[in-house]
Amino acid sequence: MPDPVPSSSQDRTAPDAAPVPATRRRIKDLEVMVADVIPETADTTTLVLFTGNDALDHRPGHFLTIDPHQFAALDRWTRWLEDSKGRCEPPRAYSLASAPHEHRLAITVKEERYTSGVDAYPPLLSPLLVRRTPRGTRMVITGFTGPYVLPDDIEQRTDHLLHVCAGSGVVPNASILKHCFEHHPKLRHTLVLGNKTWDDVIFRDALAAMQRERPANLRVVHALSREPAGARRGAEVVSGRVDVTLLASLLDDPTAVEVFTCGPAVSRFEKQRAKLEGVTPAPRFQETVLDALEVLGVPKQRVHKESFG
Ligand SMILES: Cc1cc2nc3c(=O)[nH]c(=O)nc-3n(C[C@H](O)[C@H](O)[C@H](O)COP(=O)(O)OP(=O)(O)OC[C@H]3O[C@@H](n4cnc5c(N)ncnc54)[C@H](O)[C@@H]3O)c2cc1C
Repeated sequence: MPDPVPSSSQDRTAPDAAPVPATRRRIKDLEVMVADVIPETADTTTLVLFTGNDALDHRPGHFLTIDPHQFAALDRWTRWLEDSKGRCEPPRAYSLASAPHEHRLAITVKEERYTSGVDAYPPLLSPLLVRRTPRGTRMVITGFTGPYVLPDDIEQRTDHLLHVCAGSGVVPNASILKHCFEHHPKLRHTLVLGNKTWDDVIFRDALAAMQRERPANLRVVHALSREPAGARRGAEVVSGRVDVTLLASLLDDPTAVEVFTCGPAVSRFEKQRAKLEGVTPAPRFQETVLDALEVLGVPKQRVHKESFG
């Protein structure tokens, strides 16, 4: 069994545009084999990757990329999408669900859905990774990089981390949490998770187990937007979206907390469409959270953010 993977922006739709981190790392291609496939929810799967290399150079919060061109099963789709869009399909980024001290690498992928009449194109890679990547599959990954990482001086900066995540946005934060429990056991964490329903919560049981093991260090609060009777699920479950009132109730000192927030933001495609239509795109999770943190007085330099469309 793999270590319990609390069994996943800059703009997560644009991994090729990710800023280069301050310390330049050696990014390299690695051939890996899928050693385990763990269904997390109805549309989300963790892939445990065997690398044959114990000394992997990554930090909690880093992502890897996967180039869709390597999959024969996607060949016709990839070429059709490239013809239609008039551009090369870029590699997709996936945050590491595993922490650096764990002996296996893992990513957790949520299947992107296609809504007719709304989405311009069907998603390319995530349906394959979630539903059609059996144990034994070989693939090439490229990694590891990204600016959404735990600062080395975290214990000098704070004793309380607030994680605010939605959907697969929990993936990099799960890695950060596991790393902190291993290397910074004095830090306190509050994890706020936004999802539609209880069954959509990725890593739900693993996070509950972590909380039972470390009640003084970890508090997990769920906000369920499509479960009006969410509170029946437990004392730490509220109905509705993550908003300023919920965040205010969880912050003892907004000026001293360090925030890590990851979840959907208005995508560049939504921004382009809104511009053409002359409207302002409706805020999504990430815009709402960033506004709330500003209202609550959390200093900008204490807010680490990663988003995906
Ligand atoms: C740093 C980072 C980390 C990430 N980590 C994770 C993770 O841990 N887990 C996870 O599940 N996901 C993660 N993602 C998201 C992931 O990289 C993919 O974006 C996601 O899996 C969807 O890829 P896809 O190929 O299935 O869909 P895509 O083919 O990329 O399509 C996604 C959506 O974009 C629309 N679209 C695509 N091209 C166009 C276009 N030209 N014009 C208009 N609309 C278009 C499609 O219609 C569709 O709605 C991360 C992203 C980043 C940048």
